[in-house]
Amino acid sequence: MKPSHPWARAACALVASLVAAGSWAGGAATASAQVPDPANPSSCYAAKDTRTSHARPFQPCGVLVISKWHRVTRGYVPHVVDPAAIPGHHKMTAETGKALAALFAAAERAGYRLVVRSAYRSWREQGLLPKVATTAPQGASEHQSGTSIDLALQVGYRQVRGAAFGRHPAGRWVREDAWRYGFILRYPQGRQGSTGIPYEPWHLRYVGPGHSVAFKGRPSLTLEQYLGLGGAHRALSTTSNRDTGRLRLGNGLLALA
Ligand SMILES: [Zn+2]
Repeated sequence: MKPSHPWARAACALVASLVAAGSWAGGAATASAQVPDPANPSSCYAAKDTRTSHARPFQPCGVLVISKWHRVTRGYVPHVVDPAAIPGHHKMTAETGKALAALFAAAERAGYRLVVRSAYRSWREQGLLPKVATTAPQGASEHQSGTSIDLALQVGYRQVRGAAFGRHPAGRWVREDAWRYGFILRYPQGRQGSTGIPYEPWHLRYVGPGHSVAFKGRPSLTLEQYLGLGGAHRALSTTSNRDTGRLRLGNGLLALA
């Protein structure tokens, strides 16, 4: 069926061109993956979380979603690797590492040396984070999936982190270009009502190019909006956000979402 919504058409067209060019690696969004289509009631848009076991994540349209509304248990342990192309011995899924290496290379060409501050965090590691009011609880962080990356900019011996990263041209480059490599800015500015998390200009999420293309030119689009999860989140967003947020560590802000 031909998708009727612009972002659904864009995703299909991109996947088709990647497959034709022989450069499609498959993965989180495969060539046959559904794309959410708000105009098509039979699409995967606005899927319900009907899991009976939370040892596996909620995956509407094949896109993993972990939040305080869609949690996982300690039994969810993805396969992660330490990609040789990514400095610093950070673990992430192999597919995320491959895409991140491409993003880092492109950033380098644009004049920005990006580094990873935090990637995969196990259930146990999330629990070891300092217990402050803003720490995401175990099972509510997408870092447990191995597809979330916290970035900083390396400038000589110094790092530009946190909110300063968002104000830097490198932060703008990430907002505008990350979709090309299958990433999205997971917690855009002013979208806490949708995501439940304040603005995190440093936090990227790998969703695959078949989905990230919908975010081209739309850095404020949230994953919840894209997947049609907004209704539930709007209803829930008036509840306290005390279990999510950030913590000051070292000379910058580290996302704990
Ligand atoms: Zn993060």
